[in-house]
Amino acid sequence: MKLYNTLTRRKDEFEPLVPGKVGIYTCGPTVYMFSHIGNFRAYIFSDTLRRVMEYLGYEVKHVMNVTDVGHLTSDEDTGEDKLEKGAREEGKTPEEIARFYEQAFFDDAAKLNILKPHVVCRATDHISDMIELVRRIEANGYAYRTSVGLIFDTGKYPEYALLSRLNLAEQQAGARVAVDPERRNPSDFALWITNQPKHLMQWESPWGRGFPGWHVECSAMSIKYLGERFDIHTGGIDHIPVHHTNERAQNFAATGKEVVVRWMHNAFLVIGDARMGKSEGNLVTISELQERGVSPAGFRYLCQTALYRMPLNFTAESLQSAQNSLRGLVDFGRNAQAWPVNDAAWIEPFKQEFKDAVADDLNIPQGLAAVWSLVREGNQRQDRAAWEAILDFDRVLGLGLEQLAGAAAEVPSQVEELVAARERARKARDWAESDRLRNEISELGFLVEDTPAGARVKPRP
Ligand SMILES: [Zn+2]
Repeated sequence: MKLYNTLTRRKDEFEPLVPGKVGIYTCGPTVYMFSHIGNFRAYIFSDTLRRVMEYLGYEVKHVMNVTDVGHLTSDEDTGEDKLEKGAREEGKTPEEIARFYEQAFFDDAAKLNILKPHVVCRATDHISDMIELVRRIEANGYAYRTSVGLIFDTGKYPEYALLSRLNLAEQQAGARVAVDPERRNPSDFALWITNQPKHLMQWESPWGRGFPGWHVECSAMSIKYLGERFDIHTGGIDHIPVHHTNERAQNFAATGKEVVVRWMHNAFLVIGDARMGKSEGNLVTISELQERGVSPAGFRYLCQTALYRMPLNFTAESLQSAQNSLRGLVDFGRNAQAWPVNDAAWIEPFKQEFKDAVADDLNIPQGLAAVWSLVREGNQRQDRAAWEAILDFDRVLGLGLEQLAGAAAEVPSQVEELVAARERARKARDWAESDRLRNEISELGFLVEDTPAGARVKPRP
């Protein structure tokens, strides 16, 4: 299997540290608001990585954190905590906010068939691990104190910019940090923040009462659950210049090792020319997609049509096209269920094509091409073996095809009446009324197809 590594900027052969096993750490959600579909592209990517690994026979341990403290509203080391800001605006405690949005995140993730990571770890449950990590960093001479708290001295780590490949000026621009005269280097960042009396969530520490810097949690928890050297760390490309660069520096300062062997990053979901993000004001949640009649599986299909390292265009047309493709697959499955399984030897080249594609740096679009070749061939042969192979591929795609194809086509009477009215309109050659009724039926979640035997209605996938 070949995978890209952001650290080396190369695609090369994946060799696990322990044969047959893979450790993956994914930067999880900051739970102060609903996650949007741009966030979920990243989680579909890490989920797909895990699924491909399992498909290829690896035993995977997938770890994801939940940030419920320490992520400030800017990249500076002072200012309000995102959780506390959310709590103040909603008149709740930070814990109430965190638990509510954590549950909402996992509800949305389940709708998208994102498998729950084997370990889900909250930052607030790991404060002592973070203090221990920071203590090691300090003991190894990588930290100094200012009035803000304990600061990481990036000047002590010559490889600091290796992951981002940015020079100092670009790094500063990326971090958007105001110059602090107490800092030795502009890229230095806080490990432990003190003297912030307005913060609600604070803990005792060797450096005074305070709270950990955001980057500390991912270093501490990834090392705790995956060890001082592990295979893969994932996240969005926005994490490269600051969060992951700082994690990597902390890891080295604490352990003397390059803890993460391979860094993998997904590109953004883009609308027009802009990435989807809170500051861009163009957020869409999973629930909003559903209100527009888009199924979570349809969105997941859309994500699988682009390579994870390429920007994904989110438009009404691209969504519609993904929904149509998914519907085509589900229709194929419904038809195929009536066919016998014949000699399945003809399937093997398609299976190999799919496996080769996903093992080539997760080339899922190429994998989908194999799926569609199989659909064409399966239709000609009327062989259910094709559908069974596609269900096997769905262990990687995560579309939930078996469930979608098996879903009982229960049609509410309201829809049946509309279908009958549409039939009457068609007989009267009132095409405008017929189209209007078709749209009304579609808004209720059903599709109507005109066949020689009359109108057929079925749920939209
Ligand atoms: Zn992280």
